[in-house]
Amino acid sequence: MAENKIIILDPGHGGDDPGATNDKIHESWLNLKYAALIAEFITRNNFGIIPVMTRYYDTTIDISKRIPPMLQFNPLCVVAIHMNSAENKEAHGFELVYSPRAGEQAYKLGGLIKSTISKMPMTLGDKPYALTIRNDFVRKVRVLDDCAKCAIPAVLVECGFICNDKELDVLIEPRIQARYAQAIALGIAAFVNGGGK
Ligand SMILES: [Zn+2]
Repeated sequence: MAENKIIILDPGHGGDDPGATNDKIHESWLNLKYAALIAEFITRNNFGIIPVMTRYYDTTIDISKRIPPMLQFNPLCVVAIHMNSAENKEAHGFELVYSPRAGEQAYKLGGLIKSTISKMPMTLGDKPYALTIRNDFVRKVRVLDDCAKCAIPAVLVECGFICNDKELDVLIEPRIQARYAQAIALGIAAFVNGGGK
């Protein structure tokens, strides 16, 4: 019997931890929305991949307990979904974050997601929207660290800056969300089905 290809989606924060906030939205809500759309796209398109999420509701998960319970699934990769925020309200763009201990496979996964994102149409009807791809970052993040320790390829996707009103408008637009989720899902599928780990 073919082994199940399981991937983990980790919608960041949740419950008591809203993540970045502004007067309109909590990051944790958007993270969950995006992760659910990615999971739905993967499931609907029969990629032969089973997406499992670290949370399905607005629940609090201790950061140290996000990844360990997922190891039972022997996942092929982990993708954490976040929204960014910065002091600079003009900050914008999509970022990929890697663990300092990330291996070659994590970079391969990130590269495939970046490439599908960069192929997204940059207009919605006649309205152009700003989606830039910023540089990759290496940052110490507990979830990525936990994956690196177990040699599971993992990346954290910062979809955009919710502190920037213009970018927030883009990030909450359902048609953009669908496109974005599709691009991330296609990147994950390319990694899993293209001979990842
Ligand atoms: Zn976050």
